[in-house]
Amino acid sequence: MSIAYLCLGSNSGDSFKLIEQAVSFLNMIENTSIIRTSALYETEPWGIKDQRWFLNIAVEVKTKLSPQDLLVKCQNIEKTLGRNRDKERHWGERPIDIDIIFYDDETINSDFLTVPHKYMHLRAFVLVPLLELVPDFVHPVLKKTVSQLYDELEEVEDVYLYGTRKHD
Ligand code: ATP
Ligand code: CA
Ligand code: CA
Repeated sequence: MSIAYLCLGSNSGDSFKLIEQAVSFLNMIENTSIIRTSALYETEPWGIKDQRWFLNIAVEVKTKLSPQDLLVKCQNIEKTLGRNRDKERHWGERPIDIDIIFYDDETINSDFLTVPHKYMHLRAFVLVPLLELVPDFVHPVLKKTVSQLYDELEEVEDVYLYGTRKHD
């Protein structure tokens, strides 16, 4: 049995419902179950700014699937919930995105899968939800804890607990 951390994001359609559905589909994957989830966050777009804000959540799962099989299952859930990469711009709008952030303390570098996720240490929208779950988990390549990575962020995009963002 392995422990993996996933980060889910959505900024098109009914993001709240899409995240909720994705979480329940994750729990239905064979040989996989959710242990904990973080709170839900409203986050400023990272990379491409001129798009809707995102909802993000981190999920801790235990699984007997390999990282590669877990990725395929996550991509199937993305498709089921309407994700179509052909119609998207890179880092642009999407109904649902499911990334594998950590898988035990494994390091994977294949054409299809990089674990730990290659940008996780630069993204407040990943680190803040993850901080709730595993602040002391050590990144197997950077050899720093999640909380150190958060403290060392140079650019911190806005991250609000769901419902606490002020709208003007
Ligand atoms: P980013 O990876 O920067 O967050 P993205 O999530 O928008 O960007 P996608 O279009 O969802 O990118 O995925 C592109 C490819 O990334 C996927 O087809 C998948 O093979 C690959 N990939 C590599 N590492 C991971 C990972 N850790 N989790 C999910 N997908 C990954
Ligand atoms: Ca992503
Ligand atoms: Ca992705």
